[in-house]
Amino acid sequence: MRHLFVSRENFADGVAALAGSYRVYGPVQERFHHVMGLLPPGVMPEMSVANTRLSAKGVVYPPSEKMFRACLDPAREDHHVYKEIEKDFSPRAVFGIRPCDARAYTLVAPNFDNAEYKDPWWTKGYGATTFVGHSCNDPRSTCFCTSTGGGPCDTTGLDILLTDHEDGFLTQVLTEKGEALALAAGWTTEAGADAEAALSDARREAEGKISSVINTDKIGKKTILALYDAPFWADAAFACINCGTCTYLCPTCWCFDIQDETHGTDCVRLRNWDSCMFPLFTLHGSGHNPRPEKTGRVRQRFMHKLKYYGDRYGNGVHCTGCGRCVIHCPVNIDIRRIASLMNEYEPDNACSL
Ligand code: SF4
Ligand code: SF4
Repeated sequence: MRHLFVSRENFADGVAALAGSYRVYGPVQERFHHVMGLLPPGVMPEMSVANTRLSAKGVVYPPSEKMFRACLDPAREDHHVYKEIEKDFSPRAVFGIRPCDARAYTLVAPNFDNAEYKDPWWTKGYGATTFVGHSCNDPRSTCFCTSTGGGPCDTTGLDILLTDHEDGFLTQVLTEKGEALALAAGWTTEAGADAEAALSDARREAEGKISSVINTDKIGKKTILALYDAPFWADAAFACINCGTCTYLCPTCWCFDIQDETHGTDCVRLRNWDSCMFPLFTLHGSGHNPRPEKTGRVRQRFMHKLKYYGDRYGNGVHCTGCGRCVIHCPVNIDIRRIASLMNEYEPDNACSL
C-alpha cells in the first residue's frame, strides 16, 4: 500500500481523465435523494453525500437484470431457445462508495462466488469494478459499523480509500486495481511523511463519533431452535407492513426472483431483486407457503442477518451497520433492538422480556 495526496483539482482532473478507460459511477442526485449512478461525461461524483439512499450493490447486481432472450415465433428454427444476453463487463470505477458498502460486497461474495457455484454475471461485474472509497469523517447517528466488524475508515473491499485532508484527499492505494486507476487518473503526488499519523487521527476522530452499537456476541452460541421459538417475534413483527424497504436498501440482501416477460414473440428472462418480507417470496408452485404470516417473514430476515449467516460462513453478521433500514423503515423497526432481543434471550428468562 502507498499513500498519495490528491488535491481537489487533481481529483476532478483524474475523474475526467478516466472517462476513456472506465465507466465511472458515483453519488448523484435522483429526484429527492442520491443514488450510486453512472456519471455522464463531465459530471463529478458528489463526494459530500453522507451515503446514497440505495446502496452501491446495484452497480454489480442490478435491481433488474436481463439474463436470456428467446423468440417464441414457431416459424423460426430457434424458437423457444434461450440465448444469453450480452452484458458490458468493461472496466468501471465506483467513486465515493462508503466503507460499509464496500465491505458489504465481501459479505455477499460467498453467496455468488464459492466452490460449488459461481454466478457468471456477479463475478464478472465484481471483477471489472474498481472501488474508490471515501472515509466517513462525519458518521450519522444511525451508523453502527464499528460493532459489525467495520469502521468509518475501514479499507475492506476497497481498491483505494480517500480521506478528506486539507484541500484534498489523503489517498491509500490498496490493490493492483487501485494502482492502475491511480495511474490512469494521473495521481502521482506522494503524501508527506505524516500521512500515517494523519490517517490515524482521522480514524480515531471518526470512530469516536459513532455512538450507535449492535450487540450480537451471544447469538452464535444459541441454538437456531431456541431463537426460532423465542416469544418476541410476534411483537417485533407487529407493526411491519411488508413494504420491503429494508431489504431493497440493504447492501447485503441478495435474494432475487427469476421471471419471463413476453412482448409478442419476444421473451426475456430477468432476475429481479426480491424480498423475504413479501408474502409471495417463498410461495411454492403447489400453493404451500412456508411463511404465510408476517411474523415468520420478519423472523426470517433477522435470523438470516444475525444467526444463519454467521453459522454458515463463520464471518460475523450479515449486516455492515450502514443504518439504512433503521432510517427508512416506515414503522421504525430497528435491527439494533431486534439484535438485542436475540442476544439477551434465554429460554429460561423468556418471562422477563
Ligand atoms: S441490515 Fe440494515 S443496517 Fe445492516 S447492512 Fe442492511 S440496511 Fe444496513
Ligand atoms: S422496512 Fe420496516 S415495515 Fe417495511 S418490510 Fe422492512 S421491517 Fe417491515
